[in-house]
Amino acid sequence: MACTARSTRVDDILELFARHGHSEYGGEAVTQLEHALQAAFFAERQAAPANLIAAALVHDVGHLLHSLPDDAPDQGIDDAHEILAARWLADRFGPAVCEPVRLHVTAKRYLCAVDDTYFGQLSAPSVLSLGLQGGPMTPEETREFERMPFAQESVQLRRWDDAAKVVDLQTPGIDYYAKFVALAD
Ligand code: FE
Repeated sequence: MACTARSTRVDDILELFARHGHSEYGGEAVTQLEHALQAAFFAERQAAPANLIAAALVHDVGHLLHSLPDDAPDQGIDDAHEILAARWLADRFGPAVCEPVRLHVTAKRYLCAVDDTYFGQLSAPSVLSLGLQGGPMTPEETREFERMPFAQESVQLRRWDDAAKVVDLQTPGIDYYAKFVALAD
């Protein structure tokens, strides 16, 4: 881990959201910042540990790191934002934050395969990107996924991600969640 980047991670994350957080969240009715705050809000409400609250806050920083249009999935483009995010985060956090973020798209494919009610709850943009991300897992893939470190955490993160699209939900601001970023492993 690059310790210099780790020591400035709170500043790096605040700056990223200050610069790009007001962009649209991929066809949803909330901004990237609102989406991030809501995901962290739901994580804390379920008494998640600091690592997972931080992961929820930063799970979509990949969308803030590329210059593809917000509607890239409409154009058939998978922005691979979870991979971009995990790479950027790896300089700043350990695997307890990076891995749930890296797996949060895979967790959607998993939940589509194992939870009969899950697919019906996905928003239209999320259904669209699912196709680009490989669709629901096969039974073999679900078993492989369950053996991966941080698979369960990524599924929890995915549930908060899916819920974090509420128009005008009142949450604390990003300065409040910065303490979890500072505390995380
Ligand atoms: Fe998200």
